[in-house]
Amino acid sequence: MSMEQLIEKYFRPGRLPHIWCPGCANGIITGALVKAIDRVGLEKDNTAVVAGIGCSSRASGYLDFNTVHSAHGRALPFATGIKLAAPQMAVIVITGDGDAAAIGGNHFIHAARRNIDLTVLLYNNSTYGMTGGQYSPLTPTNSKAATAPYGTVDRPFDLAALARGAGATFVARGSAFHAPMLADLIASGIRHKGFSLIEAVASCPISYGRQNKLGDAPAMLKWQRDHALPADAYEKLSDAQKADKFPIGVLYQADAPEYTEEYAKIIARAQKGGL
Ligand code: SF4
Repeated sequence: MSMEQLIEKYFRPGRLPHIWCPGCANGIITGALVKAIDRVGLEKDNTAVVAGIGCSSRASGYLDFNTVHSAHGRALPFATGIKLAAPQMAVIVITGDGDAAAIGGNHFIHAARRNIDLTVLLYNNSTYGMTGGQYSPLTPTNSKAATAPYGTVDRPFDLAALARGAGATFVARGSAFHAPMLADLIASGIRHKGFSLIEAVASCPISYGRQNKLGDAPAMLKWQRDHALPADAYEKLSDAQKADKFPIGVLYQADAPEYTEEYAKIIARAQKGGL
């Protein structure tokens, strides 16, 4: 299906053009999402898209599914409630690095711990873009930000390691530059039974790129091209060689009991009566 046909099928009529800045990678990542949904064959009426707050979270307003544009950092509690109430639905969470890793950080680790069957697509642009470029828990050390004009001293989370450590059973990373691969990773995450994180390395040429003199939008995408490595090749590098690279692909996958299925067993036990 062409991108025009995908837009016709999966975007709400009358909601485009979007509000993202020219050169923002959010459109590429949202395009990868609808390609993945189409490939998996999700039905629109049986799919919920839940977003938090931030530039990326605006995508929920453009997409023609059951959508919730929730509160800052709270997409995962909303999504958890939907999945528990309607386990047959596919529930996709759109979030950003500030939304998921800072304000929603506690929700993130506990949703991963429960291994609830949600697909989390995290647009990581290393900043709070919508509010002018404050640093987030994923902003690289020494980056400039509206809240760190001389550079941040904070060390960023390794979000993939955090998700895995918390109990996620599918962890992957892609980038806007590698959009076809990103669509594959999202499709795999949707198919996976359990908590799936797909971190999409994004680019914000306005609120992050300008402050850090990273060049224009194509230059920021070329940076992704030149610094991403397939996960198996990345693992062969020395620590020094890894310093300015990042791995892409499926980083971790495992089987574990899924939360709504386990919860259904408890409900069945309770309905039988007795303890
Ligand atoms: S501020 Fe950054 S992340 Fe937000 S729409 Fe503009 S370029 Fe995209």
